Amino acid sequence: IPLERFRNFCIVAHVDHGKSTLSDRLLELTGTIEKGGNKQILDKLDVERERGITVKAQTCSMLYNYKGEDYMLHLVDTPGHVDFRAEVTRSYASCGGALLLVDASQGVQAQTVANFYLAFSQGLTLVPVVNKIDLPSADPPRALEQLESTFELKPENAVLISAKTGLNVEEILPKVIEQIPAPVGDHLKPLRLLLVDSWYDNYKGVILLVRIFDGTIKAGDHVVSFATGLKYIVGEVGIMHPLETPQKSLRAGQVGYIYFNPGMKQSKDAKVGDTFTTVGSERLVEPYPGFEEPKSMVFVAAFPVDQGEHGHLEDSINQIVLNDRSVTLQKESSEALGAGWRLGFLGTLHCSVFEDRLRQEHGASLIITPPTVPFKVIWNTGKETIIQNPALFPDGDEGSSKVAELQEPYVEATITMPEEYLGKVIELCEVNRGIQQSLNFFTSTQVILKYLVPLAQLVDDFFGKLKGATRGYASLDYEDAGWRKSQIVKMQLLVNKVPVDAVSRVVHTSQVDRVGRQWVKKFKEHVDRQMYEVIIQAMAGRRIVARETIKPFRKDVLAKLHASDISRRKKLLEKQKEGRKKLKAVGNITIQQEAFQKFLAK
Ligand code: GDP
Ligand code: MG
Repeated sequence: IPLERFRNFCIVAHVDHGKSTLSDRLLELTGTIEKGGNKQILDKLDVERERGITVKAQTCSMLYNYKGEDYMLHLVDTPGHVDFRAEVTRSYASCGGALLLVDASQGVQAQTVANFYLAFSQGLTLVPVVNKIDLPSADPPRALEQLESTFELKPENAVLISAKTGLNVEEILPKVIEQIPAPVGDHLKPLRLLLVDSWYDNYKGVILLVRIFDGTIKAGDHVVSFATGLKYIVGEVGIMHPLETPQKSLRAGQVGYIYFNPGMKQSKDAKVGDTFTTVGSERLVEPYPGFEEPKSMVFVAAFPVDQGEHGHLEDSINQIVLNDRSVTLQKESSEALGAGWRLGFLGTLHCSVFEDRLRQEHGASLIITPPTVPFKVIWNTGKETIIQNPALFPDGDEGSSKVAELQEPYVEATITMPEEYLGKVIELCEVNRGIQQSLNFFTSTQVILKYLVPLAQLVDDFFGKLKGATRGYASLDYEDAGWRKSQIVKMQLLVNKVPVDAVSRVVHTSQVDRVGRQWVKKFKEHVDRQMYEVIIQAMAGRRIVARETIKPFRKDVLAKLHASDISRRKKLLEKQKEGRKKLKAVGNITIQQEAFQKFLAK
């Protein structure tokens, strides 16, 4: 099949608007999978093959006969989740166009808006598709009006379908062929290949999903990665149809898979957005622009409840990390909680999916600290440090004399909602230190609101609160908005004046009093009364912001004594006081580990 009869496209949609269902219909329509067979085959395969914790992109090629000629259509799936924006961008980069899919009953939502702009900025041709027209609540005219007023997409170009019943789905592929341009590329030039996605296979090692921009690739070729400089020998190439189907070669314009022999061992070496070429052609080829290392923006620490479980837990964390190239992992140890790990994620959803998986597998035997975000310290010398572990945040003398500026990461949140909730949503954003960027009505009743919000606020269940404030009617998408200067300070929990290392957090100064009171109250609940006094304090910088005291039992050493035996009585009381002092000095150590665990648990 010549290049002019290739089409690479993807589906741009808000979650649940029917991307997977429509993909299945298209695969059935082209005979790629059997009709009425496995529902949502692309999603199913994910789970069956345990391709990792995220809803991973899954791509498929289809043969389609249009007006007597065979076309090779590559449907490139995109990760369904906002943390993977860099990967979504790569998927778009491998396409010439996209179906912009909107649920007829819900209309345009936050991810429709955010993904539209991303696709548009990549130069993709967009074909509007309105789905779920079978629903009684469907309002296709309203959806078409939104598509026109928000994206300037003409209603007469739109296809109205039901992916569920299959109604009008056959109108889509002719539009894809007529409106979306064929890929360009020269198969005689040196190899230039973009890494779009990857997954791990126990036998083959890491399998790479690639888009060939120039040249051809076949088994036996020696290739090299621009990002890592590592060299590999190609073991097999092929297309996803719907599973790995080997081909003699892949050439310019195509989207397919490759793996190496010997196989690529670590998912980390497969960097989405990386460019590969043939060994020897490095100088002749421009790597694809815009490659970025994934950035961890949300961190949690994890500790086994029982240190005897450490090895076992480490194995399963490693297993999950093997499948997810975007998780970072460092060892961490805490006096209170023992040996554990600090895990870094791309964003909040990424983090919570991973956490769910660990909890499912390990349940109560695992402590996971609440998520934190990195902070940036600009020193008086001009040097900048990004701090991932709050315990390492400068405080005391270092904090006051050596630091020029502190910064925290912000995101730009896109929120859509019916107008009636606008007041509540604005209030929520303001409480969360948001800065309004824009407010637009995209129909007479639907609003798109853009806010800059500190990532630290977003990780504190912002989405849950948003859903609560709008009875589930709001949708949220966000993207990185860089660093901003901030009034932040390290908070520590002190037990009898000794800081507890596992419990420090960096907090905005406007919140220290509230957080401090919460901390001491919560910790007090979990500490049993002792033989000695326990003082629990929350300290922000060097200022104590909250305090609770747990009174000791007054052990009745006098009970057996005769009331008249005054000198002896005094002596005993002295002795008891001494004993208390001693215990006080080492007080924090005798507190049950359980108390810390309960304090940290959500
Ligand atoms: P995705 O998140 O975009 O991949 O959405 P899915 O394809 O998983 O669909 C989300 C839900 O909408 C599922 O329960 C589907 O069965 C349902 N759905 C998808 N298309 C239609 C449709 O045309 N009509 C109706 N009534 N339901 C649909
Ligand atoms: Mg889906």
